[in-house]
Amino acid sequence: MRDQYLQAMGITRWVKRELDPVSVDDVEEIEKPVAVESVAPEVAVIPEPTAPVITEPKEIELTVVQNEESHALDELDWPSLEKQVTSCVACDLHATRTNTVFGEGVQQADWLIVGDAPGTEEDIHGKPFLGQGGQLLTAMIEAMGLKRENVFITNSLKCRPPESRDPLESEIIACHVFLKQQIKLLKPKVILAVGRVAAHNLLGINEPMKAMRGHTVTYKDTGIPVIVTYHPAYLLRAPSNKGKAWQDLQLAMKVVAEVTE
Ligand code: SF4
Repeated sequence: MRDQYLQAMGITRWVKRELDPVSVDDVEEIEKPVAVESVAPEVAVIPEPTAPVITEPKEIELTVVQNEESHALDELDWPSLEKQVTSCVACDLHATRTNTVFGEGVQQADWLIVGDAPGTEEDIHGKPFLGQGGQLLTAMIEAMGLKRENVFITNSLKCRPPESRDPLESEIIACHVFLKQQIKLLKPKVILAVGRVAAHNLLGINEPMKAMRGHTVTYKDTGIPVIVTYHPAYLLRAPSNKGKAWQDLQLAMKVVAEVTE
């Protein structure tokens, strides 16, 4: 069954042969982008799962807006929090949004998936991860043996930036109080940060993706591990990285298994 979902991710599973190991050079070759004119099937090596690299928890200092409103959010339950998001005017994005996108899923989920910001489809329908990117995210979730409806999915920003531009730091800071309260209410076993903005927001560091992937850092003082991977929209543009995304998902699965033991 997992192979079917990996196929949906665009990944062909390679079975390791004892007498004919794949060399490092082979791996590099396979992961090079496929030429546009090529009709060869897209492949990626799926490595054996490796032990997760659990780093010492880093002290994450996000400059969260500490005003009366953010303190009040500490007390909110799910319905009240969603109401606050719907009526929020804390940053300029409220003026151009069609709908806020609070997130959806099980409110006791072990997995929290956090993306960057809503796009056009999400803004229209008020739901996270729709369209082709959403379909790929669903395939990624199912490749891990999970169901989309059993995880909680949200974004760092609850409103779409105009023309789907990158969010401003001030917008991310203004909106972080909502994500923070969602994490507090959900208490997930793992947070999967999909995309650069989500990773920066959750880790509180501004590093390239390659530096943030492959590690486990806890979110603030919660002890909840955060795993970083590529955004599905990026993977649609750069499918040769799907193998690396699968490594990230394997790491997240291992971390959850360890937390559950
Ligand atoms: Fe409020 Fe966040 Fe929307 Fe800005 S993006 S208006 S902070 S809900």
